Amino acid sequence: MFSKILIANRGEIAVRIIKTARRLGIKTVQVYSEADADSLAVEMADEKVFIGPPPAAQSYLLADKIVEAVRQTGAEAVHPGFGFLSENAGFAQRLADEKIVFIGPNPHAIEAMGDKITSKKFAAEAGVSTVPGYMGLIDDAEHAARIAGEIGYPVMIKASAGGGGKGIRVAWTDAEAREGFGAVKAEAKGAFGDDRIFIEKFITSPRHVEIQVLGDKHGNVVHLFERECSIQRRNQKVIEEAPSPLLDAKTREAMGAQAVALAKAVGYDSAGTVEFVAGQDKSFYFLEMNTRLQVEHPVTELITGLDLVEQMIRSAYGEKLAFEQKDLKIKGWAMEGRIYAEDPYRKFLPSIGRLVRYDPPKEGEHQAEFGDYVVRNDTGVREGDEISMFYDPMIAKLCTWGETREKAIDSMGRALEDFHIEGLGQNVPFLSAVMDQERFRSGKISTAYIAEEFPEGFHGLEPTPFQQDLMTAVAVCMQRTQVARARRAGGAGPIEREAWRVSIDRVQREVRVFVTEAGLDIELPEEGRSVRLESSQWRPGEAQFKGVLDGRVFTATVRAGHDGFVIRHRAAEAHVLVLTPKVAELYARLPEKVAADTSKMVISPMPGLVVSIDVTVGQEVKEGETVAVIEAMKMQNIIKAERDGVVKSVGPTAGDSVAADEVLVEFA
Ligand code: ADP
Ligand code: ADP
Ligand code: MG
Repeated sequence: MFSKILIANRGEIAVRIIKTARRLGIKTVQVYSEADADSLAVEMADEKVFIGPPPAAQSYLLADKIVEAVRQTGAEAVHPGFGFLSENAGFAQRLADEKIVFIGPNPHAIEAMGDKITSKKFAAEAGVSTVPGYMGLIDDAEHAARIAGEIGYPVMIKASAGGGGKGIRVAWTDAEAREGFGAVKAEAKGAFGDDRIFIEKFITSPRHVEIQVLGDKHGNVVHLFERECSIQRRNQKVIEEAPSPLLDAKTREAMGAQAVALAKAVGYDSAGTVEFVAGQDKSFYFLEMNTRLQVEHPVTELITGLDLVEQMIRSAYGEKLAFEQKDLKIKGWAMEGRIYAEDPYRKFLPSIGRLVRYDPPKEGEHQAEFGDYVVRNDTGVREGDEISMFYDPMIAKLCTWGETREKAIDSMGRALEDFHIEGLGQNVPFLSAVMDQERFRSGKISTAYIAEEFPEGFHGLEPTPFQQDLMTAVAVCMQRTQVARARRAGGAGPIEREAWRVSIDRVQREVRVFVTEAGLDIELPEEGRSVRLESSQWRPGEAQFKGVLDGRVFTATVRAGHDGFVIRHRAAEAHVLVLTPKVAELYARLPEKVAADTSKMVISPMPGLVVSIDVTVGQEVKEGETVAVIEAMKMQNIIKAERDGVVKSVGPTAGDSVAADEVLVEFA
């Protein structure tokens, strides 16, 4: 086996690779940019080599620097992770020329599957069903409209070199086809340096199902079943699972056979993924092949018990696959939620910054009232680390395994409750919402799921009756703890009052508290029932409240509001007060606080750099007109006026940095 490998990547995937290398007794070398000098991957690796400034083009994408680092450290092989140089055939060839092993497929396979146009042609020749469309290149906007008309609307205009959901537009009309062509071409040129465009039929309300394949250098290829990745936002995966709730054994076998046939046709000899778009009727069409380890590979590992990084290392070393297709079985169900530094409550805008608190759920086996489950959390960060604007905004990939899909979903719900992050916007509440949605639980999903279920964006979910009880119990328990402390400090003896009124978002209910050995019994006289809160170890100041309510284990996030508490359980958040009957009466008469009127202001929705302010004082602006452009996370965000108005004042100017909520422009 290799004795030392170099990891030409960063973040969570670098950490992931180091873990397997350690287990196999292989030493690791981690390359790093200035931004990653103190990263977890660098800390964990046996050796580190500095390769340049933060922008990837000046560090992680420089083949010369990687080769130099290999020479310097005597590493025998390079694992490229995903992104960066992982699908660069030139890089794989360069390593081969330098007698360094590339832990990935051979350069010919990468080349053949390297762009969407070539790979689609290749797949069609290998007998794989492909999305109907035009196999040639599109020259100009007129050509785009003509071809789109021939294919029949709707169509998808795609950059051949596209990836990560970029370089894709849907068009429903000739005008949209012309416009989409220009937009995709510009985006592709900027992002990939390759502006070749093609057009295919847009499959409406489809599902994304992909097959994991694995090959060796001896001509063997197997598939490790499928993953479903239909929960996407802007064509980017957010939640993935394995197996797929869509497939039956017959479809699985057919899809697997096509993926293996394609892999064999290109002489594939590592881990790779064949992506399909599938209709609700289980018809399926080839999309592209990713010739690398896939972001969502952990769900496959959880249902097969295999370590894909280990398999890649073994096949790169020349070992034969140790199993055949018939030896492989699906065990249970796995879910993955991508935890991103983005603010779901603000249209998912990027939210970079420091992880002031980062406390993920405990990995490994857990027990809950709904059954046993496993938690796995792949991450490259620790508390105190920064999510910078230079790289992917992913904080972690949280995965759970359960015996059935229902149990995998329930365990993901629980694991998300235990994931505590402070300091930046993050999508944990959003992922929780999806886990609790009936439609998701029923498995009737499509790539349009998020757009259909959250048409107005995400604003949290209303507390369910169980969550209202939970918030009541948590608030009462916290209030009692605080009151008891204050009384002790003042020498006033134990709490006497046990009758309160609890207000949840201004709706009041009466409670009577009985202290028992196990915790609190909370009677709700108006409803003629009571709930039981057990085993709470909460101490004032703690942000997580863990307990058991009526036999159900939970974790709520708690913080002090301007009065009372703000309590979040999963996707539901409420302002909760525990009041004496007298105060409750007065409180009910208080007028509701009205939020400040910001309708006349255009506010920066995120921290970033002002690229331009596109209006001047006195100018008349119409709704939808661009007011400013803010750059954050390498993305230019166009800030538009939400109403008509005349500009009264302008805050920052181009080049300034702005904070979230900073006023950019005020209307008269
Ligand atoms: P996948 O197709 O593996 O599910 P995505 O399509 O979401 O992954 O990823 C988009 C692209 O960004 C892929 O090419 C992937 O390799 C790359 N990528 C994703 N996360 C990272 C990361 N943390 N570092 C570098 N590249 C990444
Ligand atoms: P990328 O390289 O960015 O991953 P893909 O070709 O894999 O690009 O497409 C990304 C996503 O866009 C898919 O997962 C799917 O949701 C959607 N998509 C792609 N092609 C089509 C199509 N022809 N019809 C419908 N949806 C599609
Ligand atoms: Mg894809």
